[in-house]
Amino acid sequence: MNKEFYNEPTRLTPVSGEADVVVLGGGPAGIGAAIAAARQGASVILVEKNGYMGGACTAGQVGIWHTLSSLDGKKIIGGVVDDMLLGMTRRNAIYQLTDRGDVVLDTEVLKIVLDDLALSAGVRLLYHTYVTGVISENPGHIQAVIVENKSGRSAVKGRVFIDCTGDGDLAWHAGARFEKGNNDGQMQSPGLCMHIANLNNSKEDGPTIQDALDSEPMDYNGKPYPAYLWTVPDVTMRKTGIMLAAARITGTDCTDAESLSNAEVEGRRQIDWVLRTLTKQVPSFKNAGISSIAAEVGVRETRRFLGKYMLTAEDLLSGKSFPDTVGRGTYPIDIHSPSGRGISFKCLDGTLIEHNENGNVTRGMWTKDGKKNPVQYYQIPYRVLLPSSMQNVMVAGRCISVTHEALGATRVMVNCMQLGQAAGVGAALASSQGICPADVSIKELQDRLVSLGMPSGW
Ligand SMILES: Cc1cc2nc3c(=O)[nH]c(=O)nc-3n(C[C@H](O)[C@H](O)[C@H](O)COP(=O)(O)OP(=O)(O)OC[C@H]3O[C@@H](n4cnc5c(N)ncnc54)[C@H](O)[C@@H]3O)c2cc1C
Repeated sequence: MNKEFYNEPTRLTPVSGEADVVVLGGGPAGIGAAIAAARQGASVILVEKNGYMGGACTAGQVGIWHTLSSLDGKKIIGGVVDDMLLGMTRRNAIYQLTDRGDVVLDTEVLKIVLDDLALSAGVRLLYHTYVTGVISENPGHIQAVIVENKSGRSAVKGRVFIDCTGDGDLAWHAGARFEKGNNDGQMQSPGLCMHIANLNNSKEDGPTIQDALDSEPMDYNGKPYPAYLWTVPDVTMRKTGIMLAAARITGTDCTDAESLSNAEVEGRRQIDWVLRTLTKQVPSFKNAGISSIAAEVGVRETRRFLGKYMLTAEDLLSGKSFPDTVGRGTYPIDIHSPSGRGISFKCLDGTLIEHNENGNVTRGMWTKDGKKNPVQYYQIPYRVLLPSSMQNVMVAGRCISVTHEALGATRVMVNCMQLGQAAGVGAALASSQGICPADVSIKELQDRLVSLGMPSGW
């Protein structure tokens, strides 16, 4: 806790921009929000702290998007995401990972595709710009956001603000109420991804990469390796390169600057050890090297803002329908242990897969009768995007109004994109009609989402 303070002198803050809709953060949610709002005719400014969009996908090298279809194969998600997939396909920068439609992307090429899509929709981009505060004369209503960048400190005015910063930095500055973590306040662990190049196709006997990493404690701290490793072949170097989600940093709070800094260092230490161990023990890694380490740790969970509705795991798994549904999905409730190496997947079809702390994997059913769950997709209502105490601030992406458990499912990128898209349309409607996002016509919102490419049948 800070004990010492300075009283900053009052100063005049210049206004550097103004738009109908201001989107904070250009990750999967922010991209969906900005492009959708601009396609509805709103003027849009997107503020992003990095020099590119994509969020955890690009900066964190998390290059897998999950399916756009229901369990029985019907398309349930569409719109801006289809244009991204098209842009990636045209550049030969994507491949299908599963026959259900999960894809692996070249996250460097994605940066180019996202620039093109945003600019062609008319979005004004403010890169290398950090949201640091708000100007608010009435509680719950924001006039402007304070941003800092190479040009100094300034204000960006707007009618509606969509917080897509993942951590909900804007909503936090605005005083919106939030929760963090499970019942003990612990959040899912962040991870650090890397790419490894120069693998060979050795047929020599050797341990699997997970067995190699589990075979001895990490040499720099004597602790067991804390992650279940997952890998996918690179897009461009399919035979000789892989992406590894190689590090898991337990006990981290990514909204605490020091904890986040420690996570970056610990993540790189784990990666260093992973490569040293694999080159020593696994024949196909003998001459391998690091081709890149993600620019930042990928964050799975921080603030969840309390909205006009709080979506629960029960809602998702029962396929509950809502009058204001604006998103759908199938990705399981996937919880990475905050304190250890465990992962559990509660799948929509009733399957429960648990990777235990001791390295064993168990499979069973989470349904009471042990039978298959008949639900084909879950639904996400518009109200989770509306923090309850805010008038012109929306949230989209992983900081929406969901329980810790439900976030395990809603946080994946195709879900974040479609919720961003819904927020963008809601914000554009509210701005053009001079009303609050909470008061827009749900029918009109849903119709517009369909005209943007969301499959109908709400
Ligand atoms: C290791 C790991 C593996 C994962 N695997 C998968 C997977 O296989 N498939 C999948 O779909 N999902 C996966 N996820 C989840 C997914 O990547 C995230 O939940 C998703 O990216 C969240 O999207 P978002 O837009 O809400 O936030 P983010 O992706 O975090 O984007 C937030 C954006 O806001 C910007 N920002 C933050 N603060 C500020 C600020 N103050 N001012 C300005 N800009 C700011 C950031 O730079 C960033 O661009 C994984 C996550 C992790 C960590």
